[in-house]
Amino acid sequence: MKKVSLLAPGPTPVPSRTLLAMAQPLIHHRSADFLEIFGKVRQGLKKVFQTENEVLTFCSSGTGAMESSVANLLSPGDKAIAIRGGKFGERWTEILKAYGCQPVNLDVPWGQAVKPADVAKLLADDPSIKAVYVQALETSTGVAHPIEELAKVTAKTDAVLVVDAVSALLAYDIPVDKWGLDVVISGSQKAMMLPPGLGFVSIGPKALKLMESSKLPKFYFSWAKELKNQTQNKGAFTSPVTLFMGLLDIFDYIDELGMQNIFAETGLKSKAFKAAMAALGLTLYSKECPSQALTAVEAPAGVDAQAVVKWLKEKYGIFIAGGQDQAKGKIFRVAHMGHISEFDTLQGISAIEMALAGLGYKFEMGAGVAAAQKVFGEAI
Ligand SMILES: *Cc1c(COP(=O)(O)O)cnc(C)c1O
Repeated sequence: MKKVSLLAPGPTPVPSRTLLAMAQPLIHHRSADFLEIFGKVRQGLKKVFQTENEVLTFCSSGTGAMESSVANLLSPGDKAIAIRGGKFGERWTEILKAYGCQPVNLDVPWGQAVKPADVAKLLADDPSIKAVYVQALETSTGVAHPIEELAKVTAKTDAVLVVDAVSALLAYDIPVDKWGLDVVISGSQKAMMLPPGLGFVSIGPKALKLMESSKLPKFYFSWAKELKNQTQNKGAFTSPVTLFMGLLDIFDYIDELGMQNIFAETGLKSKAFKAAMAALGLTLYSKECPSQALTAVEAPAGVDAQAVVKWLKEKYGIFIAGGQDQAKGKIFRVAHMGHISEFDTLQGISAIEMALAGLGYKFEMGAGVAAAQKVFGEAI
């Protein structure tokens, strides 16, 4: 098998030390040793989420945690705003519909960020709206929505703000309590540097209150049941023992690096990569609020972005992501979050240049790598 390089926005590379931590012999999920691990996981998650709220863990991908935030907050027929600026925003509408709720869709052109005033107007026009569902980072477009401002809007209303931060948490600063974010969702396989398989949900007081009136069906994803158990350092069902061992190692790693340093390094890789794309004459797909967790780039005229993605995968074993739906064939997306180094980033830029040249795009070979090297060099 070719050496695989993961540069897509999930799953991202897992540090070797964390892989070794997950090679420990399995222990029983009801043992005293595991209760201790569970307690440390709860403390570690609170630190990463920067919250005093309980952060529940589910054995699922991020979407399971998203689904739980509909099933546990709403009742049949309830109205909720779904901010749709891309593929993940659309997922909120799909989940709301699947549960028999009424999505109030706030459509944002792909590549743009939601305007908090538009949300304020919808909430003022219809006070029966129970919740606002949004992405911190809309991974399909690379746009970071203004979450802090949205929280100021919802704080003045009865509506609960639910933020999907699966691709954003730990890639840049999202202080949950400081910003007053009611519900924040994340997952293991992006900036958290773990394999896929864990979904996280932090639940604040306003959300806990709404939860009490929720009448939608739930079983595995019941917050009430898990709150009862997880506050006692155990899961209602069999816990993902191995992933928890990895998570403890990740918390140690984060402590060694420092969260602010992680945000700064992610920002530097993003800056270098974006400078490289500009040097190649390429433009960003995110016309507003481009995120530092990943970059969505428009392929040049005459080049199919899917061909770039395929070229990297098949010739070099490098995985980046293409566009979805309306952006398919137009963009490619490269991650800067998690355990991706400066030199992984340079390698990605080099590979993109080779693919673009191979696909007939005319530019000065090496210009992108040089621009990124300049950014990295100046930062040392
Ligand atoms: C990756 C991601 C998810 C979760 O996707 P899963 O495949 O269910 O893990 C949810 N929201 C956003 C914004 C994401 O980037």
